[in-house]
Amino acid sequence: MKITAIQAFPLRASRDYVASTGLQTPKVAGQHSRALGAAQSPVEIPVERALTGARTRHICSYPRGVQSLLIRVQTDAGIAGIGESHAPVAPQVAKAVIEHLLGPALLGEDPRAVDVLWEKMASTMRLRGHTTGFLTEAIAGVDIALWDIFGKAVGLPIYQLLGGGYADRIKAYASGVPGKTRQAQVDNARRFVEELGFTAVKGSIGRNSLELDVAAMAALADALGTDAHLLVDAHGAYNAQEATQVGLELQSLDIYWFEDPLMPEDHAGYKLLSDRLDMAVAAGETECNRYQFRDRLAARAVDVILPDVCRAGGISEGLKIARLADVHHTPWAAHVSMGTPVHIAAALHLAAATPNFLICECPTHQNPIGNQLLRTPIVCEDGFFHLPEGPGLGIELDEEALESVTLHA
Ligand SMILES: [Mg+2]
Repeated sequence: MKITAIQAFPLRASRDYVASTGLQTPKVAGQHSRALGAAQSPVEIPVERALTGARTRHICSYPRGVQSLLIRVQTDAGIAGIGESHAPVAPQVAKAVIEHLLGPALLGEDPRAVDVLWEKMASTMRLRGHTTGFLTEAIAGVDIALWDIFGKAVGLPIYQLLGGGYADRIKAYASGVPGKTRQAQVDNARRFVEELGFTAVKGSIGRNSLELDVAAMAALADALGTDAHLLVDAHGAYNAQEATQVGLELQSLDIYWFEDPLMPEDHAGYKLLSDRLDMAVAAGETECNRYQFRDRLAARAVDVILPDVCRAGGISEGLKIARLADVHHTPWAAHVSMGTPVHIAAALHLAAATPNFLICECPTHQNPIGNQLLRTPIVCEDGFFHLPEGPGLGIELDEEALESVTLHA
């Protein structure tokens, strides 16, 4: 079997940030395409400070809508594999990496040599220092598509190719509690528990004063009671003193984990904070390879790591990261954010195949590139994802629905 083509499809769909997540509507910074003089370009302008207007240094740019990048790898055997690069902003960059760098390196290769091809892709830029970011996001998308091909070729789901399943359903948490007011957030958190069956819900802080942040989480913790765990994500908003102050108050609320309390670069700060707090400190959605995780794990700088399979090199690298964490007696949880069901399916197969898996993020906000892109939806009920059992990723895209959100230009 040989690879005959690798294609990448940027997706874009509108999203109501305020109604779906309670976040501020992103501000448009200007028309990038105009600035570049490329009238035909569909490039959308990154927006700033989607999470807070107060502190800017830690904040990502967000698109006004939702964006991602799907990858399709074709073979001469008539089997095609699907993958996804986590590319919430400027998916065209990862697309260019695939078209100009990774694709030419892989054409004619046997797609079933997945690990060998991963090394080949990573080696294209190693001595130039490209070991994270857009490169590993692009590699992730291709890698997942190769695993999908391998599974389809032998008629087995990916988790079986990885060594078998430790579970046939994967525990999930409701990520993000929408609502403009504290009461609306409380009501939605209760709804996630009572109507959707979640036993874990994640709230978001880092946008207000420390007092308001803690009060908001106390209200959620009180509303959830013993029915569900509360996870708290601070999006890297605090300095060391603030994180310690907030952390000490949160742990009295019996928080499941305290996510991204500090800027991701502050590894020493994470070590100090983890030592100071009794509750679990979680981080790692920013890390893109096993070497970055090795350093955090060896230093015992975090209690739970949060790799994103569509950012951190795909299933091949994700498996190495998960096993490395296991060597350090550390659980991992899947960062998913907002992508397509390809992203979720890849995370679920990796989760099923690793004994130290903890919990998977489940976007609860409206996702215009979610299950509607599939012929058969991925099911999350009673707080658990069902593991797709078909060959490869075990999902099938609805081409018409996919076309409706595909950017052509
Ligand atoms: Mg997070």
